[in-house]
Amino acid sequence: MKILETKQQLEKWLKKNKSPAFVPTMGFLHEAHMQLIKKAKRTNKPVLVSIFVNPKQFSAGEDCSTYPRDEKKDIAMLEKEKVDALFIPKKDEIYPKDFQQEIFHLPKKFNILEGELRKGYFQGIATVLKILFDLIKPSYVFFGQKDYQQNLLVSWLVKKYSYPIKIITIPIFREKDGLAFSSRNAYLSPEERKAVPHIHQSLVYIKNLFDEGEKNVKNLKEKLKKFLKKEPITSHIDICEILDAESLEKIETITENSIVLLYIKVGIPRLLDNIILEV
Ligand code: AMP
Repeated sequence: MKILETKQQLEKWLKKNKSPAFVPTMGFLHEAHMQLIKKAKRTNKPVLVSIFVNPKQFSAGEDCSTYPRDEKKDIAMLEKEKVDALFIPKKDEIYPKDFQQEIFHLPKKFNILEGELRKGYFQGIATVLKILFDLIKPSYVFFGQKDYQQNLLVSWLVKKYSYPIKIITIPIFREKDGLAFSSRNAYLSPEERKAVPHIHQSLVYIKNLFDEGEKNVKNLKEKLKKFLKKEPITSHIDICEILDAESLEKIETITENSIVLLYIKVGIPRLLDNIILEV
């Protein structure tokens, strides 16, 4: 596996490996990242993974400097998966001193939920992805359903700039007990770790109610919150919404595909999970 630290090294590699299948990550890799890579390999394009903890998507007081990192382990995992190249730039390589940040006029669905909780978050993600897409010119990019609102942003960005990129989204990949894999799970204490599969159980419970015929959003949300609060460790609910899956607009009754979105604060991290309710 080629390890590329600078734009120059990346550009040189791209000359022989045009339009790769690209998997952007923030590192501290886990099984879900490997699933994205396995999917990327199926395209038969060269597979390029990036590891970059993007400071622009963290606001003041967030965990950018303490975000978990383990480059050695990440590299070993990528080598085992036979990834063709890893782009692992330093901060200044992506944001040189004279960097002028572009302001994106984002649709209003990015000012709510995580966009409201974390000011500048989606501006920061759009900024780094545009830089990476312009540099790499991938044919495919790979994302996970876990970051649902982020995926809508990727679709918006690709459409807005007419990038000839195919976006592939994989379902949420979970531990055996239902917890969605996340680098931030590393922050959980053993007691918290034991309790957090309750988050996924709450989503399964709501999906079952929906499948049995409950379509009223207020009822579903109330039941969801009540279920989460049964476990004190999952009772700090930052976001609990059931919204139109595409526009993220509020709905009263589920008549179109909808998304149940949860952001639960457990100790240090906020854990994200979601489930699609298909009509
Ligand atoms: P991150 O390194 O957290 O920025 O994640 C990199 C990519 O992996 C993003 O597209 C995430 O949506 C995806 N991802 C992270 N965790 C999961 C998961 N449990 N299931 C599916 N995709 C995931």
